Amino acid sequence: MQFIESRGNDGQRADKVSFSTAILEPMASFGGIYVPESLPNLGAEFLAEHVSSDYKVLAKAVLTAFAIDIEASVIDEALALYDHFDDPKNPVPVVKVKEDLFVSELYHGATRAFKDMALQPFGVVLSSIAQQRNEQYLILTATSGDTGPAALETFKGKENVRVACLYPDGGTSDVQRLQMVTENADNLKVIGIHGNFDDAQNALKSLLQSNTFKAKLQEQKIYLSAANSVNFGRIIFQLIYHIHSYLELVRQNEIALGEKVYLDVPSGNFGNALGGFYAMKMGLPVEKILIASNQNNILTELIGTGKYDLRHSTLIATTSPAMDILISSNVERILFSLFGAKRTKVLMQQLDSERYYELTADELSILQAVFTADYCSDDEGKSYIKEAFASGYLMDPHTATCFKAYATCRTKPLKTIAYSTAEWTKFSPTIANALTGEKNTDDRQALDTIAKAAGISIPDSINHLFDKTVSQDVVIDKADIESEILAFLH
Ligand SMILES: *Cc1c(COP(=O)(O)O)cnc(C)c1O
Repeated sequence: MQFIESRGNDGQRADKVSFSTAILEPMASFGGIYVPESLPNLGAEFLAEHVSSDYKVLAKAVLTAFAIDIEASVIDEALALYDHFDDPKNPVPVVKVKEDLFVSELYHGATRAFKDMALQPFGVVLSSIAQQRNEQYLILTATSGDTGPAALETFKGKENVRVACLYPDGGTSDVQRLQMVTENADNLKVIGIHGNFDDAQNALKSLLQSNTFKAKLQEQKIYLSAANSVNFGRIIFQLIYHIHSYLELVRQNEIALGEKVYLDVPSGNFGNALGGFYAMKMGLPVEKILIASNQNNILTELIGTGKYDLRHSTLIATTSPAMDILISSNVERILFSLFGAKRTKVLMQQLDSERYYELTADELSILQAVFTADYCSDDEGKSYIKEAFASGYLMDPHTATCFKAYATCRTKPLKTIAYSTAEWTKFSPTIANALTGEKNTDDRQALDTIAKAAGISIPDSINHLFDKTVSQDVVIDKADIESEILAFLH
């Protein structure tokens, strides 16, 4: 399987690259990103064959169908990391919460958020390619709180890879911050910045594109890569759990093989939803993908009206911060897939220069044949958390946005798979507030409140965070990021 560029080729880069090149050098011509040249068609037979497969067997089969240039032994080593999830036999439990609503829980890994699903195996794959090539890589990552801990965890102590992780100071939960600032391996650097997540992501993008920065790295023979979901190396691992969740419903006798379902995805950078889209294109019986957002409802507007308009949008800090995003990077891969490279280049360049684009009526109806969308305010989210808890299900504020989309976006009475992207432990003050009305608590206190209300205990991995030493306490202005990173590399 080869990879091509979302905005076409500039005549200087190779017009097709291998999977490993697309991973190591994720930025393509004209500021585009890499997309698979084609998708394997898995179809009904594949699903039938894997009805009884466990997660790793299914994952191996999907990766094999992509025919990527990664050795089987490396893939096995990467997938073995799912053995460290809560239940090695079933790393992604799918839980029935209503007659036709099921929650696929993607947060049972090391850092208690769904980023582990892709970043855990990705770390092994990237480090092994870097070692094979005998090259040193710097992974730059920007996080609103979940990518950072997962990236640091996966690359901790790994050969040939260093990580510099940017997070918005004050823009993450206490638990998320502690998960980052208490990491202390030599190859990891955590940097808080004054600004919001979009600021962090923009700083990252300009560093990735900066020739002077790259030249300084080259002096030290270090190459740049990225662990955000612009990297296809993450997306490939995010296809698998959509197929797995569908097969879980078959195993639970909730659907017959071939029956259509809705996928209901809490979306930010659109990596999770893109995985569902690719799975659908590969033959998974999906009626539509419901895109759930918070009040940063740029995706609801795009899918509802065909307009992507940043001109009047400002980022709102919500209680689901991992979805506080205005520029949703993986939408570009959807545009490519539906409308081709030429059109994608026009639209994305217009977004860069005019902060706006608009699809034609025909394009919009093509988009709406696959997606439907709604957004959920913080107050609505709190009500959904409270209501679900009353009927025995504890969920986080990101997951809650799916309950709104479930209520408003479906037009057929089909079974719906909603994705839960974080454990309650990561956003405890919001949940404690929803359940008991208590306000302005810190994470420590909120965790206790919820544990008591729900009659459960706080996982050790979270409890221990509060006793760990903070070893990464840098918080700086955006302008100083470059020099801070260069100093770390020296
Ligand atoms: C990253 C994240 C999301 C958004 O996922 P995308 O793939 O970026 O759309 C939603 N919820 C949580 C908890 C996350 O960490």
